[in-house]
Amino acid sequence: MNSGQLPSFLEPRKLADQEAEIKGQTTVSRLPRLAEFRDSQDEIVEVALRFGRDEERRQQVTGTVKTRLQLTCQRCLELVQTAVQANVALVMVYDEEQIKALPEHLDPWLVTDERITLSELLEEELLLALPLVAMHEQCPVVLHKSAEPAAAVESKRDNPFAVLAQLKNRDD
Ligand SMILES: [Zn+2]
Repeated sequence: MNSGQLPSFLEPRKLADQEAEIKGQTTVSRLPRLAEFRDSQDEIVEVALRFGRDEERRQQVTGTVKTRLQLTCQRCLELVQTAVQANVALVMVYDEEQIKALPEHLDPWLVTDERITLSELLEEELLLALPLVAMHEQCPVVLHKSAEPAAAVESKRDNPFAVLAQLKNRDD
């Protein structure tokens, strides 16, 4: 398999028997489940996957899937460019029974079809690798009073009666 051009479909079990490597690039726009990241559609997704067997002869895939996504900073609510790297380490299983039998530290990958769509694997791995909270190391904007983080707003929550009074005034 040449590096650079990624195949659309893979036969994971065959690749594992061949101890094949899949390397190349795609873009976020080619991964439909990442369509919500509208400002990141042109970003390169770097893929390096190695198929093979582990020491127990289980078919597996290991490697990395990397890209950069514009996430919302939880402090200033502006976009923050965030490196997202999925460290892939999956053991192929055929059915639920095999999933249950797998040692707990191993992640199962249910491969019931001979052929899988590569983009589905990449999407899944990147979504799992998203940080729980994205934040600038240093927010670029001076915080405006109205853009205080949620925690600060929480501590001096509006008096509900004041809100009611406002509504009343508006009616008048
Ligand atoms: Zn920020």
